[in-house]
Amino acid sequence: MNHIRQHALFFITLTALLTLLGFVLAADAQFVVRTIYFQPQGTPDKTAEIRKMMADVHDFFGREMQRNGFGFKTFHIEKDTNAQIVVHTVKGKHPTANYTADTTYDAIDPELPNRFKVPNNIHIIFIGGMQRINHHGTSALGVGISIFGNQIGGYAVIPANNLIFRVVVHEVAHTFGLQHNLDPFTDFLMGIDTGHAGFAEYEARWLDKNHYFNDDHPNINFVPRVLRTHPIRVIDIEEHIIEIKVDAQSINGIHQAEIARYGDGSILDTHFLHANRIETAVFQFNVNFLRGATRAAVRALDTHGNFWIQQIDLDIPPVAFFEPEPEPTTPLKPEPLKPAKPEPTQPDPNDEKAETDEKSEPEPEKQTPRHIKAHRKFILLWAKLKR
Ligand SMILES: [Zn+2]
Repeated sequence: MNHIRQHALFFITLTALLTLLGFVLAADAQFVVRTIYFQPQGTPDKTAEIRKMMADVHDFFGREMQRNGFGFKTFHIEKDTNAQIVVHTVKGKHPTANYTADTTYDAIDPELPNRFKVPNNIHIIFIGGMQRINHHGTSALGVGISIFGNQIGGYAVIPANNLIFRVVVHEVAHTFGLQHNLDPFTDFLMGIDTGHAGFAEYEARWLDKNHYFNDDHPNINFVPRVLRTHPIRVIDIEEHIIEIKVDAQSINGIHQAEIARYGDGSILDTHFLHANRIETAVFQFNVNFLRGATRAAVRALDTHGNFWIQQIDLDIPPVAFFEPEPEPTTPLKPEPLKPAKPEPTQPDPNDEKAETDEKSEPEPEKQTPRHIKAHRKFILLWAKLKR
């Protein structure tokens, strides 16, 4: 009996993307970031600039990890025997204009050798002659895509004539699976406007487990999955705060879970977990961030950096939805949110206890998680924003 189906949860499949990339088996090193300069006809050599940019980006990740308490730790990048970052040049057959239509990656794809489409590698591709790239018809300063599941890779496409440090950091971070940070009051690099303030703690904690930041890669073929979602609770009617609990499972232990907005994948809340095989993630956020959607995406990361994104349907109590308020004539008096009371654990008849032994795992500590405290601040700030 497959209870996943019973709960009508949907898997996001990346099969099509994997096919598109035409992955081939290769004996290359795994989990290495590789740098490519795609040089259309008539465009200048940019390899020195690109090498310098990638060296700075590589160093910046290390310093940001250090600032967040993980020591100087950065991603594995392909280097030559002189410890220089390798920039592979791929000479385009056509001038730049031939690669601008619709999606730049698709335009260069037929000319990109298969050795730059290797699974479990990340390819950062700079395109000569361009100020902006095109992604599905949208002009952009760059794009970064993560591939996840049984393979963990990705690619970024960045215009070589408009090398902006924080943009390159942002797109490279996307290839590791980081998504946009919705906090409107900070200047995080993964914020919508690509700020300057580095990585948030939950982002550093994610990178700490990422394959590209680590040497050991056991059990890479086991991805976490969401077992079930609990009924939604309204935590604060006035502030439109709802709480969603999700059970996630991984044989490697669940390290962290995140809930993201459906559509753009922006992070609504995160929960640091304790590496048990089954963990219950508790998310609290302002329902208005959903923009009316009745589904979201749960991202579960295991202790070895494997992750999976799963759509969940949200049965949101009508009372939780935002009702337009008149402009306040007196300053809002934000009340501190009460921490969520832990609910008594009730065995669920749908649980797969017959098939697994995870119930013998110790329960995670019951304490007010730091993310809820951070949330209170966020929610108060959000209330100010509404003014
Ligand atoms: Zn982005």
